[in-house]
Amino acid sequence: MIGKIDRDILLAHARTIASSGGKAVPEGATELSDLEVCGAAEITAMTRAAAERDGGVLVSSGGTTGTPKLTYLPHHMAFDRLLPVWRPLGVGDVVLNLYDAGRMWGTHYFVQKLAERTESTVIPSGPMTAEELELRLPMLREVGVTALASVPSVLADFAEMVLKTGVKPPVKTIIWMGEAWTESKRELVRQAFPDVQLWGIYGSVETWAMGSNRPGCDETTLHLLADEIFELEDAGALLTRAGEGWTVPVVRYRLGDRIEATRCRCGRGDAFRVLGRADDGFGLLGNYVNIADIVDSARQCPDVVDAQLVLVRDNDLADSARSMTVEYTGTAAPEAVRTWLTGSNVRLGTVDSQHPEAISARRVDRLRRIARTNKTPGAVWQDALGSGS
Ligand SMILES: [Zn+2]
Repeated sequence: MIGKIDRDILLAHARTIASSGGKAVPEGATELSDLEVCGAAEITAMTRAAAERDGGVLVSSGGTTGTPKLTYLPHHMAFDRLLPVWRPLGVGDVVLNLYDAGRMWGTHYFVQKLAERTESTVIPSGPMTAEELELRLPMLREVGVTALASVPSVLADFAEMVLKTGVKPPVKTIIWMGEAWTESKRELVRQAFPDVQLWGIYGSVETWAMGSNRPGCDETTLHLLADEIFELEDAGALLTRAGEGWTVPVVRYRLGDRIEATRCRCGRGDAFRVLGRADDGFGLLGNYVNIADIVDSARQCPDVVDAQLVLVRDNDLADSARSMTVEYTGTAAPEAVRTWLTGSNVRLGTVDSQHPEAISARRVDRLRRIARTNKTPGAVWQDALGSGS
């Protein structure tokens, strides 16, 4: 468990939210573990009840492959909780907001609100193609952009264009969330902007910000905000938070992510690391493998920069693939990458010995992105005929 909330406060809090759409508190409950785990339906009900009083913004997560999870986000976006420990911008700053607007996603509006609350200036650009960015870089330098906000995939693209053109806005701050860094993306950003300071948020559309990372922290480590608890479980961590000012006051909400407790070089407490999705596995011809494990392993292969799995769905079995192609950037030869993976992962080795045709590797110039968010997913599923999903 990470974080701490007084037991009496916690139980009183659970009773309060039970009366506005949360799960009922069982008779005789005395501990957090006596309370029921809640899910997306409770979040929708609780935030909807609050929005009937104060209004809000209706946002959604997922929806690409499953049913969208709806959340009514209060207009204050919980910035009073966040700004005392996480304040990346100030008066005089100009932030380029590269997050995509609309589509019921929240991050673009988070950055707009952050600028408003810190009295800085914001450019609501949204994502740009490489051509658009090349064209606009001189303007961005001219207006003095001091901060960039986006997912690491897009920040790396931005850095690459700055290195290519030599046109460099005076960026000193980078705000990231929505995706984890990879070594190669962080390196590109450091090369383009050597003294830049990184400020990160860990959150979800349903729960909004839960943890923060700031200069002085290890770059893969986050700190839980005050009055929150994470229960660490293999099926995904559970979030509980009490007190005023949150976007959603929640008891034992199952996050899809696996999380581990850690220490941070900054010395602040309640540090954690996100290990990946809890439901990140799939069957490959009868062998259960984990997407993050394979991608991590591929990234460690000599001369591979980054990697992603392209999986051909097995229509007869849920969460199963008939074949897997590792697409990667870098200079390694496909056969070397394939050999590396089947040699370093026991289950892939088993698949290889029985169905060698089911595993392949392909060098690409650029990994695939999710259109809605510009994130680089660990895996992309395709139907047998080759149409993407
Ligand atoms: Zn830290």
